Amino acid sequence: MRKPFVAGNWKMNMDAHAGVELAKAIAAGSVNIAGGQVDVALIPPFVYLQAVASAVTASHVAVGAQDVYFQEKGAFTGEISPAMLKDVGCAYVLCGHSERRHVIGEDDAIVNKKVHAAINGGLLPILCVGELQSEREAGQTEAVVSTQVKKGLAGLDGERAAAVTIAYEPVWAIGTGLTATPQQAQDVHAFIRELVAKLYDAELAGAMRVQYGGSVNAANSGELLGQPDIDGALVGGASLKAQEFLGIIKSAV
Ligand code: PEP
Repeated sequence: MRKPFVAGNWKMNMDAHAGVELAKAIAAGSVNIAGGQVDVALIPPFVYLQAVASAVTASHVAVGAQDVYFQEKGAFTGEISPAMLKDVGCAYVLCGHSERRHVIGEDDAIVNKKVHAAINGGLLPILCVGELQSEREAGQTEAVVSTQVKKGLAGLDGERAAAVTIAYEPVWAIGTGLTATPQQAQDVHAFIRELVAKLYDAELAGAMRVQYGGSVNAANSGELLGQPDIDGALVGGASLKAQEFLGIIKSAV
């Protein structure tokens, strides 16, 4: 049985004070809701990682980073290594979020290097995949997602791939208020799981968590997370409000 996993991607939002207050509210509120039945992670900007990690110490809430560089150390101005993320208390890291792919211009090869670097550094990658609106309209959703999953996991044996969570996030649903219907999302999640079974085996596919992301909120999360192959949510905007995010966690129990 897969344990649900709800993660809040704060993107480039919050300040130090508001971030700590939000983290404390979520740590306190989720004890009674989830009580260990749901994995919860907060993914603040790099500069607030340490403060947020301190704020959730002694709770079951984990901390993740929004990105990582694939080199261990050296002359890479502005980049952050896996060891640095571990050092400030990160357990998870997003790899290939759609804003990194489509705003910053990261390709599948870079995303794959980041997935490898994360695992080598003892972090748990959340590999984000998803199609553009034009790709969905052209009937290319499965082809796009398949390529991103295959290239994202390339070179990982089964043991290392088991560290990965996949987040299916249709790009047209991120930050737009548009959400995939529960059936649309379930269909792609089932497709991803079958793909993982083909790439590895049924056991790994059955154990791998696949989160849905794209305008998830407390009102729509129940139906989405109720789908058999949806194992939680990667949440952007709604993760900035404690009650909204706690509502999503509640619907994952
Ligand atoms: C995200 O940032 O991964 C995301 C899904 O954002 P939103 O929930 O705001 O659509």
